[in-house]
Order: sequence, then C-alpha cells, then structure tokens
Amino acid sequence: GPVVELRGVTASYAPGREPAVRGLDLALPRRGHVAIVGPSGAGKTTVFSLLLRFLEPQGGELLLDGVPYERHGHAGVRARLAYVEQDTPLLPGTLRENLLHSRPDAGEEEVRRVLADVRLEGKVAALPGGLDTELSAAAVSGGERQRIALARALLRRPDVLLLDEATAQLDALTEAAVHDCVRRRSREGTVVTIAHRLSTVTDADEIVVMEAGRIRARGAHGDLL
Ligand code: ADP
Ligand code: ADP
Repeated sequence: GPVVELRGVTASYAPGREPAVRGLDLALPRRGHVAIVGPSGAGKTTVFSLLLRFLEPQGGELLLDGVPYERHGHAGVRARLAYVEQDTPLLPGTLRENLLHSRPDAGEEEVRRVLADVRLEGKVAALPGGLDTELSAAAVSGGERQRIALARALLRRPDVLLLDEATAQLDALTEAAVHDCVRRRSREGTVVTIAHRLSTVTDADEIVVMEAGRIRARGAHGDLL
C-alpha cells in the first residue's frame, strides 16, 4: 500500500474560515515523484503542512503505512518525512553543524555522498576550513543555501522528501542539482514537489493539479497537456 494517504481531507486555518483544502484524496506510493501544481493559494503548501502535522484536518484522515496519523504521534510522523522550504534560513554555526542538525550521528562518508549529491563539494573545497567553516564568514548564495537545506533533508534519510518550489528562481547549477536529486531519490523513495508550472515537472510520475483547495486533475505530464 501507499506510504502516506490522505482520505477526504478538509482543513482550514481557523474555525469558521473557508477551508484551504477540501475533500482531498491523495495516495503517495513508496517510490516515485509526485508533483503538485497549481496557482498561488490553491492549497499546495497546506498539503505539506498536513503531511508534516503542522496543521490538523477538520475532516477526513491521514494515514502512514495504513495507520492513522494520530497513532504515530507528531514525532513519529516527522521522523519519516523531510521538508525543504522554499527559502530555508541557515542555522548559526558551521557548515557541518548545518548539515548534521537533525542527524548528528551521520558518518563522514554519508556527508560526503550527500554533498556530492547536491553538488556542493566544490564549495566545501573552496572554504578555508572546509566543513568546519563558520557560515557567517563564508559567502553563501541563495542557491547554495537551498542545496545545504536539501543536503540536510537527505541526511535525515526520509521515506518521503517534500520540496516546496525548490527550483523556483534558482541558478542553473542548483536547479540541475535539485532535479538530479529528485530523479535519483524517487527511485528509492517518495518525493513530493510543489511547482508553479507544469513545464517544470515534465518528468514527474504523477502530477496533481490543484485549484481552490481541490484536486482538478491528475496524471502524467502528457495526459494533462
Ligand atoms: P499555495 O501553496 O497553493 O499557494 P496555500 O496552501 O499556501 O496555497 O494556501 C491555501 C489557502 O490557505 C489560501 O487561501 C491561503 O490564504 C490560506 N492560508 C495559507 N496559509 C495560511 C496561514 N498560515 N494562515 C491562514 N491562512 C492561510
Ligand atoms: P525537534 O523538531 O524537536 O527540534 P527533531 O529531531 O525532530 O527535533 O528535528 C531536529 C531539527 O530538524 C528541527 O529543529 C528542524 O529544524 C528539523 N526538522 C524536524 N523535522 C523535520 C522535517 N520533517 N523535515 C525537515 N527538517 C525537520
């Protein structure tokens, strides 16, 4: 069965408010890339908030491994997912501390592999203290910051990786790194991306088109054109 499933999920941000998503049915397979597309305000980010239990539904239910979210607890759910926001701030400290924040036990070899995954080896090599350089002292571009956030998320070894418009307005190197990562990761696990336009997710296995809190269409890129 699916790793995560939303069944008839309706949620609003405050009592009496217009729901941000309504009657949402969505099953995330254990492998593959699901892209959520739609205009601003469609409810895409709200789906991520529900998946991460930042927001609780008023109707319907979410399941992890076929078991209702409530029975896993917040930490139990979050341990299985990793989230890369659109604009992730760096944490104070060194690059190493930034990467190992959620998994201090990660080994040197795994850190190297993840850095290569997000194409940051060149950056690390150029830093005077390598991984132990204070990020406040190192000039870090927006794209590099995004790749650091992605590397940190990968080090969590999530079953489900959530990327919020991670390739929006990024430099070409970062965009290519993110695309490659998504492609590779989706062979072993689940990747869910949020994108503004269909044209940026041509290689997704399933595209879910949202509008006004509902799913309007779903299918492969070719089916939706
Ligand atoms: P998208 O990610 O597709 O742009 P969102 O999920 O952010 O859409 O928003 C869906 C709806 O929920 C919008 O009407 C938006 O104004 C509202 N909304 C989103 N986040 C919040 C919030 N933190 N508090 C109140 N309303 C919100
Ligand atoms: P806590 O959230 O209580 O600090 P965690 O070990 O769950 O403890 O997380 C450590 C840090 O990892 C958090 O402070 C947060 O920045 C980040 N984090 C937690 N959950 C997620 C997640 N699902 N995706 C990405 N980062 C996360």
